[in-house]
Amino acid sequence: MDRKIVGFHQDEEQHWVAELECGHNQHVRHRPPWTNRPWVVTPEGRAKALGQTLSCRKCDAALADETPRDSVAALSHPSQPKESSMKAIAIACLAAAAALHAPRASAESLRCNGYSASEGDSRNAVLYKCGQPLLRDVYCSPVYYSQTLQPVPEPIANAFVPCQAVEEWLYERGPGQLTATVRFRAGVVQSIRYGREPQ
Ligand SMILES: [Zn+2]
Repeated sequence: MDRKIVGFHQDEEQHWVAELECGHNQHVRHRPPWTNRPWVVTPEGRAKALGQTLSCRKCDAALADETPRDSVAALSHPSQPKESSMKAIAIACLAAAAALHAPRASAESLRCNGYSASEGDSRNAVLYKCGQPLLRDVYCSPVYYSQTLQPVPEPIANAFVPCQAVEEWLYERGPGQLTATVRFRAGVVQSIRYGREPQ
């Protein structure tokens, strides 16, 4: 039975519902590519649709009660929350996989901008490949402490011990990624370490 549209409202899922003169509601969803009603999402489109008729299935079925169709609509819908939780799980899995792979896959080299910086590279080579580091530290490391690489305070180091300038560059590699610390000794990359924060 054709009934005039007298108004519109949105349901909990933001789908548009036409209010019919008979008092029944009928979904007029715009869900491309399955159901295309681009007019329903604009105020102008809805204004034009007022007074036009829809075939009211509830009247046709002579169901005064609105619940049957509404419950069917509700049942055919829960795909939406399910989809989003699936997506959340997928993202969590990806993040876990990235965390597992990052330290192993590139323990010896630093990938940036399609290049790979690795041990033995000069400072210019690393700059060229990876750009400016976030932080840069230079300190003097005594030769005989090379295993621990403890920074020695500058005045003491200069005055008392033979030392070698060690430079550390810290790269942030984006959200959720481990930071990379590139250590230079004698002007070339000595090591590349990954960590959650600078060590
Ligand atoms: Zn009706």
